[in-house]
Amino acid sequence: MDKTSSFSIHKGKPIRCKAALCRKAREALVMEEIQVDPPQAYEVRIKILCTSLCHTDVTFWKLDSGPLARFPRILGHESVGLVESVGEHVDGFKQGDVVLPVFHPNCEECKDCKSSKSNWCARYANDSISNTRRYGMASRFKDSTGEDIHHFLFVSSFSEYTVVDIAHLVKISPDIPVQKAALLSCGVSTGIGAAWKVANVEEGSTVAVFGLGAVGLAAAEGARLRGAAKIIGVDLNPDKFELGKKFGFTDFVNPTLCGEKKVSEVIKEMTGGGVDYSFECVGLPSILSEAFISTRTGSGKTVMLGMGKHAAPISLGSFDLLSGRTICGSLFGGLKSKLDIPVLVDHYLKKELNLDSFITHELKFQEINKAFELLEEGKTLRCIIWMDK
Ligand code: NAD
Ligand code: ZN
Repeated sequence: MDKTSSFSIHKGKPIRCKAALCRKAREALVMEEIQVDPPQAYEVRIKILCTSLCHTDVTFWKLDSGPLARFPRILGHESVGLVESVGEHVDGFKQGDVVLPVFHPNCEECKDCKSSKSNWCARYANDSISNTRRYGMASRFKDSTGEDIHHFLFVSSFSEYTVVDIAHLVKISPDIPVQKAALLSCGVSTGIGAAWKVANVEEGSTVAVFGLGAVGLAAAEGARLRGAAKIIGVDLNPDKFELGKKFGFTDFVNPTLCGEKKVSEVIKEMTGGGVDYSFECVGLPSILSEAFISTRTGSGKTVMLGMGKHAAPISLGSFDLLSGRTICGSLFGGLKSKLDIPVLVDHYLKKELNLDSFITHELKFQEINKAFELLEEGKTLRCIIWMDK
């Protein structure tokens, strides 16, 4: 198949295509014909090949108040696509390239992007409100009445075409199957990065993961690859335990079966005093405090990955902190997308990374609302949604 032949006819012109619009919080997405404007300077227009649904999409789909709740909007941020056309001043991307859009920016030029201390792009990461990275509320999407449609996390992949800033785009090897690549655009990279870069899990250590969705299972996969000796999974849904065995979990705790004991007490008993590392992958402040006190006094480290609604405050016992535990949060697992995603792709191509087991369902674009139901009901890890099937 010639992947580029149909592209060039639209260069510099708007494209009309299908998108799944979120018109109101918690209401089914509506398939509509939209207009996608050409990319401006530093932007790339992409033909989305497939996308998957992450819990963050669901959180924002439910959000009905505050500055982050915006309608109509095109959700979706875990995806893979082909470059259709590029705007001015775009180096390193050309028509037909396979690319991953990533919600977390990496400008490669600011002080923090140049430092190895974090993946916080000081130039861009503080702004999560704008539609387009360099053009504020300007949108590249219009509905059939000409009204602007809001972007989501600078990606908006629930559309056949989208426009993404180069600070949010990574070129990848065409050798990796696209549905596996899509997983690396958010959830799976976040979990693996958290274990490798943020916690820096070492051989023989003990680990507890709270929430066995794709993010939590990927954190376990990262810990397994680092040689962790014991990986305990905590989830309310027992179906996740069977799945968890494929990702290196050695033990499971169901909070509803702990009786009078707190989950942290059970974990301390299982590990002789607490785990070396814990990961919160649900997005609830109460789970974060349990994850925190499940770690070893003196040296335990907790990484928060879950995103709750309205950035709710968290509460930790001050003595639990004084006694030497550490806690930190991380977006995109501490990974610098342009540097680290090609490394993860490489690990997959060398058959070191188990990406296959994350894909539990595949759907046509028209069936996208089914993916929301499956994730809400805890029946799927990742649904791959194919745009042209
Ligand atoms: P998911 O819905 O697939 O998984 C969540 C899991 O948590 C489910 O298995 C569910 O049964 C379990 N759970 C729910 N309540 C629980 C409780 N009280 N105790 C124990 N387990 C419970 O979600 P996901 O796509 O894996 O995402 C997980 C979280 O990570 C979300 O909050 C998402 O927004 C966030 N996230 C963060 C980043 C980041 O950069 N930090 C990136 C992607 C996703
Ligand atoms: Zn930067």
